[in-house]
Amino acid sequence: MTSLPPALLPGASIAEARPATLGVLGGGQLGRMFIHAAQQMGFRTVVLDPDGISPAGQIAHHHIETPYDDADGIAALARLCDGVTTEFENIPAKTLDTIAAQVRVSPHGGAVAIAQDRMLEKTHLAKAADVSGVGPGPWVQLLAGDACPAVAPEMFPAILKTARLGYDGKGQVSVAQAGDLASAWATLGGVDCILEKRLALRDECSVIVARGFDGHMVHLPVQRNWHHQGILAVTEVAHGLVAPALAQQAINAAQTIAQSLNYVGVLCVEFFVVDDGSELGRLVVNEMAPRPHNSGHYSMDACDVSQFELQVRTLAALPLPMPQQHSVAIMLNLLGDVWFDKDQLRNPPWDDVLAMPGVHLHLYGKIEARVGRKMGHINITGSDLAPVRDIAARISGLLGLPTPA
Ligand code: ADP
Ligand code: MG
Repeated sequence: MTSLPPALLPGASIAEARPATLGVLGGGQLGRMFIHAAQQMGFRTVVLDPDGISPAGQIAHHHIETPYDDADGIAALARLCDGVTTEFENIPAKTLDTIAAQVRVSPHGGAVAIAQDRMLEKTHLAKAADVSGVGPGPWVQLLAGDACPAVAPEMFPAILKTARLGYDGKGQVSVAQAGDLASAWATLGGVDCILEKRLALRDECSVIVARGFDGHMVHLPVQRNWHHQGILAVTEVAHGLVAPALAQQAINAAQTIAQSLNYVGVLCVEFFVVDDGSELGRLVVNEMAPRPHNSGHYSMDACDVSQFELQVRTLAALPLPMPQQHSVAIMLNLLGDVWFDKDQLRNPPWDDVLAMPGVHLHLYGKIEARVGRKMGHINITGSDLAPVRDIAARISGLLGLPTPA
């Protein structure tokens, strides 16, 4: 795959001289940060998103405002762009395939189709475990239209998840015991679901890998994640926070998964660390995202190459040197809750937050704050973990953010 020129070609005709244009399906915050990275490198940019005021649509050179399966919108995107990527997994795989017939697309529709369906995903992750040794936890599938299956008591307590369209803990319900399964399934509308045994988590971590068209792979350092009410709240990245032996296993497993999908682009794989009586615990693969991921946002301020620049580089077939982390980092997610004091809207105390050293505020340009809605994040960087944690704690106090016990 030839590399796409990010800047004007000297001496070329006007038609040839234009920098390449990169497009993204989806106008959310991940699309916005991809556009920022692409523009920083000199690319022209296009967003396709039905929302007229999406975070990425606001800042792209061109915004195609149609649904993701609209033939005219898709045709316009393919016509305007030299390469197209996606910022969320619920793009119809057919849309990616249609565009791929005209311009390069990464990731390919087949990989996205697997990542957007928890049944296909779990099956694929189990297969990859034959090579990596790191597989998913126990799970059972529930198929729409079938009778509710009889599930062994040792699967409970469990979590029932819709196979498709779930995110940030949405489309999930807890199921305490086998007798509660049928009614839990009904509350999710009886659609295709998977039932997962609720594992006792010692920790959670994730890995961002980037794989080029030539199969070359690089990765970011392994992130340690803390979720609150099913939504990522805090990511910490410093050497040793995830035991090096587990981190290496996680990297190997994520690379195996990327390879097995013949993946091109940025892929995030999430893991659980569960107790198995051993000193470090055992890794279990949770899920994957065929795109940059919330847990990789720290890389924007703590690494020499961010996950969004990796997405640009893979799509444009530019070189992929191994990213280096130059600062210890903590990422705090900012949900819409921060804009509320009880029921009253408030202006969060940014002056106090930004007065602290090493603080990088990222807001996504969303015009309405809603409880539970991702509005932005703060990266805190420094040379040592203790003072960075100290500042994270002070910011959490100021903004009323949830903190690990
Ligand atoms: P989402 O697509 O919303 O990220 P996940 O399946 O990753 O959904 O679940 C969100 C979070 O809920 C996980 O990061 C973890 O904290 C918790 N969780 C999900 N599944 C399990 C499980 N089987 N056992 C224990 N905790 C779980
Ligand atoms: Mg998840």
